[in-house]
Amino acid sequence: MKRLTLHFHRIPVGITNCYLLCGEKIILIDGGAPGHVKDFMRGMARVGISPRDIDLVLLTHGHADHIGSLHQIQQITHARIAMHKSDCAWVESGLPELPPGVTLWGKTLIGLGRILYKPRILRCGVNYAFDAKLFSLMKQGFGIPAKVIHTPGHSSGSICVLLDTGEVFAGDMAMQAWFLRWKPGLPVLAEDMNQVVRSWKQLIRLGAKRVYPAHGLDFPIEVIQEEILAWEKRYGGGRKPKA
Ligand SMILES: [Zn+2]
Ligand SMILES: [Zn+2]
Repeated sequence: MKRLTLHFHRIPVGITNCYLLCGEKIILIDGGAPGHVKDFMRGMARVGISPRDIDLVLLTHGHADHIGSLHQIQQITHARIAMHKSDCAWVESGLPELPPGVTLWGKTLIGLGRILYKPRILRCGVNYAFDAKLFSLMKQGFGIPAKVIHTPGHSSGSICVLLDTGEVFAGDMAMQAWFLRWKPGLPVLAEDMNQVVRSWKQLIRLGAKRVYPAHGLDFPIEVIQEEILAWEKRYGGGRKPKA
């Protein structure tokens, strides 16, 4: 039997990390922050892969900083676009919403964002809007030993990509970039933090070991486990309101 090799690269596009998964086929996770398509091209040149070799752009969710350069990336790569159907309308209209803040800083950030952050997002057609709770990128024909898992909480259409080896590409289900939070952990922005915690428990049950967020560098799953414990100690029994 042919042994499958998989490697991946982090491609920062503005404030957002895209990740390139290279198996039998090549998948780009997320479409970058608005106005930074040059970063995408630079990143692809750095790893020595032609953008035209990308088969699919898989969106972790539909917020502006994850779909901002998607239109240009799609034009360059001719790749198909896939995402969970719950966030699809934001991509197809080019009018994504901002998520609510969870922490005091998150609320401040979003308060400022509502006034100051008005990016122009070019709308994009989604080729594959899925609703399955979990599907395999191996069985879908991409030759990548990974599962796509519906992990609502940050947005209702958030998904994570979990490699069979335990690396999880988490979009905004985890954060650590300086402008969001100093230390790595759970998101400071989310539609429903109790749901974020439930989604993480599912990912941990399925074998998540190392977290690759869309903002900031990777960190071990133990950080998330500690944050879940702290969250439950503070708001155990789901007393915390949605966001
Ligand atoms: Zn987001
Ligand atoms: Zn984001």
